Amino acid sequence: MSNNIEGKIVVITGASSGLGEATARLLFAQGASVVLGARRTDRIQSLVDELSGSGGKALAVTTDVTHCDQVKRLVDAAVQTYGRIDVIINNAGLMPHSPLERLKIDDWNQTIDVNIKGVLYGIAAALPYMKQQKAGHIINVSSVAGHKVGPGSAVYAATKHAVLALSEGLRQEVKPYNIRTTVISPGAVATELPNSITEPDVAENIHKFYEKMAIPADSFARAVAFAMSQPEEVDVNEILFRPTSQEL
Ligand code: NDP
Repeated sequence: MSNNIEGKIVVITGASSGLGEATARLLFAQGASVVLGARRTDRIQSLVDELSGSGGKALAVTTDVTHCDQVKRLVDAAVQTYGRIDVIINNAGLMPHSPLERLKIDDWNQTIDVNIKGVLYGIAAALPYMKQQKAGHIINVSSVAGHKVGPGSAVYAATKHAVLALSEGLRQEVKPYNIRTTVISPGAVATELPNSITEPDVAENIHKFYEKMAIPADSFARAVAFAMSQPEEVDVNEILFRPTSQEL
């Protein structure tokens, strides 16, 4: 029986580490072809070399998601190379937590550019193809911070609330085109994400929090695989998960 993953062409942004890398590995192992975007070319290229060494199809395209034209180039490369795009996972993100009163305006701008505009650019790049195909699946990555706000997380949480809102609007709008939409909201998962915090005291606290409870990145990859592997008429719209020990 088909797993509904095998043979699919899957574009993943932020595939150079963490959730994106783990998802690329799992979906590839289950028969998908993966097209990987991130700024660190060496990371995505060595993952592609490793994966394609085992016989499947994988492609790396250097991509900064704050540039609409680069995200379009990533998706166009998938279609030009493999003939279609079945899934886009708008995963690239950063989390430079800090209290608002510290006025980390560069961090705010970067967070908005990557976490909100980057997702929109992914939608903009994939939607025309998926409309034409009358098939596709757009997976956006929010967070527990898309549901809960705490001191120090206001801007990050605002971007992740935005991803939830965008995903719900998208869900309703793409019904006529037979496109599925999923937004996944993880709790603490062990990745490089805390490294994006620029305030040393905040970073120290978050690192401690992650060391205590973060769960492995394949928890996220399995959630993606679950949503993708449903029969085409089943549209899993939201998944929220946390470490069992995470209270917030
Ligand atoms: P990582 O820091 O390990 O990975 C982040 C990825 O995003 C990297 O591949 C990085 O690639 C990429 N990225 C960052 N900026 C850009 C950019 N401008 N253009 C392209 N790619 C970019 O963290 P995670 O894997 O944890 O993060 C993935 C997503 O998961 C994020 O959206 C995050 O908010 C979300 N999330 C994570 C949680 C966690 O606890 N880990 C919890 C909830 C949500 P590169 O630097 O090479 O460009």
